[in-house]
Formats: sequence, structure tokens, C-alpha cells
Amino acid sequence: MNNKDVIKILDKLISCKSVTPYDDQCQEYIANFLKDLGFKIEFKKYDDVTNLIARYGTEKPVLAYVGHTDVVPTGDINKWETDPFKLTDKNSKLYGRGTSDMKGGIACMMHAIQEHLSDNKNFIGSIIVILTSDEEGPAINGIKKLVESGDLTPYEIDMCIVGEPSCKKTIGDTIKNGRRGSLSGRLRIQGIQGHIAYPQNAMNPIHAFSPVLNRLISQKYDEGNQYFPPTSFQISNINSGVGTTNIIPGELSMDFNFRYSTETTKNELQNKVEDIMKESGLDYNVTWSHSGDPFLTERKDLLDACVKSVKEELGMTAEISTDGGTSDGRFMAKICNQVIEFGLINKSIHKINEHTTEADLDAVTKVYKSMLNRLLPRQ
Ligand SMILES: [Zn+2]
Repeated sequence: MNNKDVIKILDKLISCKSVTPYDDQCQEYIANFLKDLGFKIEFKKYDDVTNLIARYGTEKPVLAYVGHTDVVPTGDINKWETDPFKLTDKNSKLYGRGTSDMKGGIACMMHAIQEHLSDNKNFIGSIIVILTSDEEGPAINGIKKLVESGDLTPYEIDMCIVGEPSCKKTIGDTIKNGRRGSLSGRLRIQGIQGHIAYPQNAMNPIHAFSPVLNRLISQKYDEGNQYFPPTSFQISNINSGVGTTNIIPGELSMDFNFRYSTETTKNELQNKVEDIMKESGLDYNVTWSHSGDPFLTERKDLLDACVKSVKEELGMTAEISTDGGTSDGRFMAKICNQVIEFGLINKSIHKINEHTTEADLDAVTKVYKSMLNRLLPRQ
């Protein structure tokens, strides 16, 4: 394999100033590259978001590679040691916005596919590359819309690799096979405002809520399971009081979030909180916002191929994990029951001086190539 090919691809991708949601012709370059390999190209535009669906073959099984071409803003450009939109080799590192998250991963996959098709175009199954320019932004008109509109349904995707940077320190140390769900709530407690010297004429919501708060925190929501840690309840903001020292506040508000496992559901968590609140007898209301159900991929073909490829190509035993924030995998999981995330190292992502290395790109490309060989063997 020629590593320089991956770098050449990445160089081009980094030069596109695709700060979310603008794609700056990044997908057009990828589409032309895949078209030359025999892929059928389709663009789906929703508002200012560009989405690319490229397909090779029509047979089962269908393996999808999912990613995003948009990047987060650079931050203070003067703090960058290099031009963030020019791939720069410095002290054995490759700098540029998106090198790790996730243009680097896309470049690895493009080259792996090119190699897979190079000497024999006949393999079992088909490959679909799905890219959006709305992952780092609100993530409404990207993979979410493609899934919910039914645009991806006819493709009957069997397996999906999300090429996000999943590794912590060394390529191959982590494969993600699911994510926790995320549920947020805003709670308001109504008290009665009054003079601090006349508590009999007031109802202090801080005092009244304290024991209830304790119950919410100490409650065991579940024990987790083999793949998920126990569901966690965390408070992010709690506010009460008007700022002066002689007033009993009339109201308290609190923001909280659940990161939850597959052992519980959004409705169960909501009911639990409502039960505790009702029992308290307090005058309250809660508004909920749900940003994703948990999903889990058991060890079947896809996860197995990734674990074995990491072992064989890199000599590593990957940790299979569901930690970290949400990704587009949560949407793909609604139409595909095998979804994993595997890609570069996530240490420098979203930071000033984001970077990767030639060796890391090489390692990820090897794993992707080996996975293609296992899942879509050449005839
Ligand atoms: Zn990303």
C-alpha cells in the first residue's frame, strides 16, 4: 500500500474550508473520486446542508461507511502553528482542521475502497458511502434527515461503520459498539417569595426541594450491563434567589441530564422523576428534551471483523466501549442493527492545532482494508 495516496487525498480534503454546515466542494471531490471507481453518485440537499450517497454494487450484504465532511470552526487562528486549511507536515505530525475529526478517517476509507477494487472489481456484496456536512452543527439536515425521510431505506443497509475518531491513545485501542441515550430536563419549583424575617408568610423552594434533590441524586436508575455503565443522573445548573440577602426566593429551577443505558428507557426515567416529584407534594413542572436513544451492536459479523482486523493488522486487543458523546451512529442504528465506530485518535479533535500522523492514517487504512476483505470477500 502506498501511504502517500492517503495523504494526497487528505491534503485535498483539508484544503476545503468546510466549516459546518458548508461543504466547500469537499463532497464533490469525494464523489468524483468514487465515480472513477465505478460508484453511482447521488446528492441530497436539505436547506444549506449537502449530503452524498455513493453506491457500488447492488448485492447483499450492504456495508455502509458513514461520516461527515464538515469541521468545527478553527477558533483563534493566531493560536494555530500552521494554516488550519493546509495539511502541514511538522515534527512528524500532520496538522489541519479535520485531520482527525474526520477527514482523516474519510481519506483512509477512500483509499481502502480504492485498493479493494483495484485488482478485482468482483466481490460479494455492495458498498455505500454516506457523507453529510451537518454533523458538527445542529445535526438536523444530515444523517438524521436521511434516515427519517426514508431516503436510506431502499438501500437495505446491513452493516455500518461510522469513521469517527474512536481511539484514545493508540490506533486500535477502542471500538465503539453503541452509545448511551441522552435525556435532559428542566425542573421548576414554585415557592412563595417573602421577607427573610417572616418565613411563616413565605415558602422557601430551596428548603422544600433539598430532600427531594437528595432522592433524585441517590436514586439507582439501573445497574448498567456488560456494555453500559449504570445510568447517570447529573445536574448542570441550579438557580434560585434574587441576589439580595433579605428575600426568600419564590422559585427554583434546575437543569439535569441522564446518560442512560439499554437497561432503561426514556419513558421509565421520566416516570421515575415524575413519581418522586409527585410524592414530594411540591408545586412543580418539568420540561423534557430527548436527544437520542441508546443503541448497542452485539458481536456479530461487523464487530467481529473489526476486532479481528485490529488484532491481525496492529497486534492490538481493542476495548469495546459505549462511552463518550453522541454521534450519527444513533440515527443509523434506527435502520441498521449493526453499527460500530472506528477511526483515528480523538485526543486533538475540536482543538487548536488538531493533528494526526502518517503512521496512524496507515494503521486505520489497514484495518478498513482488512475489514472490507473479511466482510465483502473478493470472488
Ligand atoms: Zn466527528
